Amino acid sequence: MEIEIQFTNEPIAAKIPPPPSIGAHGAWLEFRGVVRGKENGQNISALEYEAYPEMAEREIRRVLESLSAKRPCLATKVIHRLGVISVGDTVIYVGVASAHRGEALELLTEFMHRLKQDVPIWKRRAFPLEDESKQARVPLAPSPSPPSGERVAARPGEEKPAVKTSLISLDEALAEIRSRCQPLPAVRIPLAEAFGRVLRETVCVREDLPPFDRSTRDGYAIRADDPAETFSIVDTLHAADWKPRQLKPGEAVRVATGAALPCENLRVVMQENVEHSRDQIRILRRESAVNISIRGEDLRAGKPLLHSGAKLDAGALALLATAGNANPFVSPRLRVCHFTTGDELVPPDQTPKPGQIRDSNSYLIRGLLHNFLCELQQAHVPENFELAKSQIGSPQSAIGNADVLLVSGGASVGERDFTRQWLEWLGFEIVFSQVNVRPGRPLIFGVNDPRVAFGLPGNPLSHFVCFYLFVAAALTKLVGEEPKTFSRGQLAAKLDDAPNPRETLWPARLDSAGLHPLAWASSGDITCLTETNALIRVPANRGSIETGEEVDFLPTTGMLTTKWQGRRAAASGRRSAPPIP
Ligand code: AMP
Ligand code: MG
Repeated sequence: MEIEIQFTNEPIAAKIPPPPSIGAHGAWLEFRGVVRGKENGQNISALEYEAYPEMAEREIRRVLESLSAKRPCLATKVIHRLGVISVGDTVIYVGVASAHRGEALELLTEFMHRLKQDVPIWKRRAFPLEDESKQARVPLAPSPSPPSGERVAARPGEEKPAVKTSLISLDEALAEIRSRCQPLPAVRIPLAEAFGRVLRETVCVREDLPPFDRSTRDGYAIRADDPAETFSIVDTLHAADWKPRQLKPGEAVRVATGAALPCENLRVVMQENVEHSRDQIRILRRESAVNISIRGEDLRAGKPLLHSGAKLDAGALALLATAGNANPFVSPRLRVCHFTTGDELVPPDQTPKPGQIRDSNSYLIRGLLHNFLCELQQAHVPENFELAKSQIGSPQSAIGNADVLLVSGGASVGERDFTRQWLEWLGFEIVFSQVNVRPGRPLIFGVNDPRVAFGLPGNPLSHFVCFYLFVAAALTKLVGEEPKTFSRGQLAAKLDDAPNPRETLWPARLDSAGLHPLAWASSGDITCLTETNALIRVPANRGSIETGEEVDFLPTTGMLTTKWQGRRAAASGRRSAPPIP
């Protein structure tokens, strides 16, 4: 029987050409499995499937070959879709050609049964129905876009999405960002270049780990049940040797750590516990441990080693190498374009004139993006919309092939705040422009499929908070990483604050004692950034929170070299104490 198997992340075509054997048969049976709108009693909008295609293909072929022995068919074509698949879309297509309909029907029924039972393809997660409306991409604003307004042009027949100009909550903003950003197409790259990328396929081990019973010590392998005291040495096994043999009572094999053992039911006596003379050993002491690592004890062949969405750290790279995955399928490098606005800014190597300040956000953004492996381009735009446009020329030359656009400053409603206009000129549809959080209220989020843009309020602390809350949520989704969520933690000191109508993200230092709220007076404060490694989420109108109370917090990372000592030095008046490396 001819067998053709494909895995794809793309929708399965409505019409599939029949297999080439057509003509020799009397039946051509086609079956499509589609995503049902209910999963475990819950209404859903989509399911995510994942597989290790090489292994799943091998298994499907094995199943089909064994089934066709009893039900001889002429050809089978199987196409399985992976990734996120909406309700009603085809997950699997099976075409079977046979001389008579009976064997094709039987083979199909049995195959679908065995597919679910034997083939390593997983339903990774279900998306509840509430998310459905947000999963659809919004219509794009044509580029250049219409003048700033509350609505953008929609494609014929499509609903115009409303821009959220009123204050939206933090949770609403996060939901918008997560639903409007979609993972960028993955790439296959050499393992040596994959550090920090996000794995975009589930990787299973092909062989048992370890692949054979091996010694965990330098010593002597003897039969596990051999009570003798003296043994004759009949062989020596180094790592990489492969010499299967049975051991007789009284026989020992000298083994190195990592060496494959010659047979089952052995134990290894450490060489430190043995007296060695010529070709004989005498056991001085038997350890209770057998000193053998059994084949498959770490992981059995076919089991998932790393799931899609895992960030590849040093340990993960080692696992992929062990699994023989030399070219993992991973997230692409993100291309980020960052513009600063504000005529008051000068570069750090210049002395500001009265009224000017040095640009710190460019360096803050550069550091914050470090964790996301971005290709970053930075530029400054003058605080005059017409001048900026004429300097840049066209929207395309401004953003090039960037995936993400970040604009620092000008996000509010002041006379010279033109970030929103600027984003619209660049073709972005503004999704929302104010979030009910402190700091960071004037935050703009726009989409120009598949690009996303953020207009970030210029104050450094607002920048920091908005990056970890909103920009990081978008970048995480674009690279296909699991979304970060708030953690729960205990306050190690009182958080002293008056009730505020906005939710507050309070800078804090997390250590083994708990969360220490840091002092900050306004969103222009910059000194607390060196110590912040967590943002405490203070509910609206909450006021102070006592020591020992549990709170939600978002861990932040990067650039934290001064740690506690910096703050203590500051408290004791020695603010210039050198950072602790
Ligand atoms: P804006 O969001 O443009 O109203 O700016 C708010 C505050 O942030 C102002 O005090 C700006 O001077 C300051 N600011 C804006 N951009 C930067 C930057 N790149 N570096 C440091 N401070 C900035
Ligand atoms: Mg400004």
